[in-house]
Amino acid sequence: MSKQRKALALISGGLDSLLAAKVMQEQGIHVEGVNFYTGFCVEGHTHAIRKKDKAKPKRNNALWVAEQLGIKLHIVDIVDEYKDVVFNPKHGYGAHMNPCLDCKIFMVRKAAEWIEEHDFDFVITGEVIGQRPMSQRKDTMPVVQRDSGIGDRLLRPLCARNLPETLPEREGWVDREKLYDFSGRSRKPQMALAAEFGFEDYAQPAGGCCFLTDEQYSVKLADLWQARGKREYELDDIMLLKVGRHIRPAPHFKLIVAREEGEGKFLQGYRKQYPNLKTTSHGGPLTLIDGELNEQELELAARIVARYSQGKQAERVDLEYTDSEGRVREMSVAPLPAHEMRKQWIL
Ligand code: SF4
Repeated sequence: MSKQRKALALISGGLDSLLAAKVMQEQGIHVEGVNFYTGFCVEGHTHAIRKKDKAKPKRNNALWVAEQLGIKLHIVDIVDEYKDVVFNPKHGYGAHMNPCLDCKIFMVRKAAEWIEEHDFDFVITGEVIGQRPMSQRKDTMPVVQRDSGIGDRLLRPLCARNLPETLPEREGWVDREKLYDFSGRSRKPQMALAAEFGFEDYAQPAGGCCFLTDEQYSVKLADLWQARGKREYELDDIMLLKVGRHIRPAPHFKLIVAREEGEGKFLQGYRKQYPNLKTTSHGGPLTLIDGELNEQELELAARIVARYSQGKQAERVDLEYTDSEGRVREMSVAPLPAHEMRKQWIL
């Protein structure tokens, strides 16, 4: 009896990785999935927080895909190791702060290490030639194979027939004729294949699988580095960039103002780590303060927060200021009028 071959699938939670894994299962390959957690992942985060997005499903799509396929999913935390990819991408950034090619190389390298340790035979991805401008081009696909060190143990079932043969095909573990030759940005072939397999409900990723492809998010990340004078971040920093309105009235401090109830509740969890302001005379958003403020700046911060409260038309708004030691003090300010609010403060 021939040996049961095993593949590790990179699962982002999108349709492509779902289909690629399914195609392998159809060929009798034992598939397990891996999902790398970088901290920038879109998966469920914002939708899970925002109250107005309540109607949207809050599922983790990677887990959902694994469930659809009936496979084991390994969620691997790579937050720290991934920083170097974000700080120093050898192949540069995409349209925003997304180092897609280096990211893909890094993840495939991690997957290659994983299969080595777990005695798996090859790695699969849901990549399609021409689908993404940076990491999924015909000329960059071999770069991923080369720089990750995986060589021909990387199979892309959805576009394999447009690419040179890989080890699993050569060895006859999989039948190349039953692989696909998708290319380009159109999603129609994938949707047709999904229908063939009977998948009706799947995630429709727009733009990318992480926040680094988002323009606004990238602006906030660049601002964070500029304010700190160096490229660095902790997990809390990058989580907070996903939430709230970020206002920087001066280079050394920033306000993170909840935009709605769900975000306010999320920010509550950070109250002990950050000085914060909360209106008491009127309904208003919880606001975290990132940075050190003098008295004058604190007054300005309070006036900005008052402006985003229900008392923005009132003469005075009362607030509670909690400093980094947890000491609470009452404040009363006039909300900042619209003409004094500078556009460039808002990130
Ligand atoms: S979108 Fe984000 S996670 Fe996806 S390849 Fe690009 S940098 Fe990596």
